[in-house]
Amino acid sequence: MGIAYRRVLLKLSGEALMGDLNYGIDPAVVQAIAQEVSAVTASGVQMAIVVGGGNIFRGVKGAAAGMDRATADYIGMIATVMNAMTLQDSLEQAGVPTRVQTAIAMQEVAEPYIRRRAIRHLEKGRVVIFGAGSGNPFFTTDTTAALRAAEISADVLFKATKVDGVYDSDPKLNPTAKRYQTLTYSHVLTQDLKVMDGTAIALCKDNNIPIMVFDLSVRGNIHRAVMGEPIGTVVGGFCEVS
Ligand code: UDP
Repeated sequence: MGIAYRRVLLKLSGEALMGDLNYGIDPAVVQAIAQEVSAVTASGVQMAIVVGGGNIFRGVKGAAAGMDRATADYIGMIATVMNAMTLQDSLEQAGVPTRVQTAIAMQEVAEPYIRRRAIRHLEKGRVVIFGAGSGNPFFTTDTTAALRAAEISADVLFKATKVDGVYDSDPKLNPTAKRYQTLTYSHVLTQDLKVMDGTAIALCKDNNIPIMVFDLSVRGNIHRAVMGEPIGTVVGGFCEVS
């Protein structure tokens, strides 16, 4: 089996960096992710990463506690930059050249987001980490991942999570829950399946970007996903009759 995808947008949630902690970043987990990304990029795959910030701050939570929602969302976006820089450090220690680009200007620590420059970095074999979400409040990093995937013409969006795909019911509560091998975007939207938020799914649908959902905690899964192995659920990427 050869490499199935040449340019990948990997979405890492903040929680993915948290490991078993309740808050923040587990350095061992980030190092493990960096090792996997290193192995994949060494085989010539171009990789861009969008990181979340839920391990540090979520705008919705701040708003629920009485904060102004937009302000809380900006804090959430800044939280993602901490994750982006942590990941950059680990990747560079693993020998992978990287650039962080942020959607909110922070030139002392990262490049601003410039689409054409991001693509050039990828072509040169650098991993580009997109921080600060989309730069807009009321959005999520899932939607950012779909947006950046479209902008850089990624072949696929990898949604790396804590479960090994999308199920017809909660596998933790229902032992007979069935995992979908493939799903249409429409099915995800109409059934409100928890893959990514609706805006992200709609963006992928409009731009025909397949989404691969898989378990990040299984070592080697990023490589398996790049090889197109059926380790999770693939949304879209085939002809859809709607
Ligand atoms: N956020 C935002 N606009 C964006 C992306 C993120 O306002 O384009 C804020 C929002 O408050 C969100 C927080 O950043 O709660 C962290 O991102 P997210 O919740 O998507 O992270 P994840 O769930 O992937 O860890």
